[in-house]
Amino acid sequence: MAVNDTQKEVVFKPITNLTFHFQCHKGIACFTHCCAALNLVLTPYDIIRLKQHLKISSDEFLDRYTETKYTKSHRFPLIYLKMNQDEGAKCPFVTSDGCNVYPDRPGACRIYPLGRAASNAPIRTGRQEKFFIVEEEHCLGFQETREWSVEEWLANQGVNEYNAMNDLWSEILTSTKDLGPAKDIQKKMQMFSMASYNLDRFREFIFESRFFQLFQVEEEKREVLASEDVELMKFAFEWLKYSLFGEKTIELREKTLDSEDPRRRV
Ligand code: SF4
Ligand code: SF4
Repeated sequence: MAVNDTQKEVVFKPITNLTFHFQCHKGIACFTHCCAALNLVLTPYDIIRLKQHLKISSDEFLDRYTETKYTKSHRFPLIYLKMNQDEGAKCPFVTSDGCNVYPDRPGACRIYPLGRAASNAPIRTGRQEKFFIVEEEHCLGFQETREWSVEEWLANQGVNEYNAMNDLWSEILTSTKDLGPAKDIQKKMQMFSMASYNLDRFREFIFESRFFQLFQVEEEKREVLASEDVELMKFAFEWLKYSLFGEKTIELREKTLDSEDPRRRV
């Protein structure tokens, strides 16, 4: 979730009567005031949508628009959208007309004024989720008359697709599974960062190494991975489960020797 550092007060409220009043539009006095001084965590899917919108590489996007932080709440590094380095600390994408990347804005921007708490259960076993209102003092949108149900808001803002993609990643980010020997941790952190955030590099990694000699990936699937970022992202998540936690998510070729860990041979 994005949190505005300059806000005076944020109240997390249950959604009463299953609906809430809210509208954000260009004519409102606070228009774009919330797009500054944010702690906005970007997910792998956010990064794909933004880099495709801006028509730039993963490297360029990460260099220009993000910063990496290690936090106490996660053992893996997180990527934050870098606010402008001036007094206003505005989001790099905000203009007087609104959001410059609106069709591909991050999930955290879409879901506001709702917040979502989701269980970490794998999707196949049924993920539990709860929504609540994040009421910020400076936001005048709550004084508008338009009434929404949660479902209407999520559909209207295109949140569901983001949640579905982000939940796949969340299984890795919030996993408590053992990462193995301490001597491997630094390499695993680097692998996590590349496979999660730098999809162009991850594509080079699998296509320009011995990856396909060691792991069984059908030719048809390889063609998809070569050109489709979202499919590559999903494959990167399967690879992370294999390489970080030793889950059997990727199939070894028969001739790959059991005696040597293939994660070290790629
Ligand atoms: S109404 Fe709220 S969300 Fe919309 S611009 Fe104002 S502060 Fe931001
Ligand atoms: S990405 Fe767009 S909606 Fe999100 S904070 Fe920046 S300008 Fe605002």
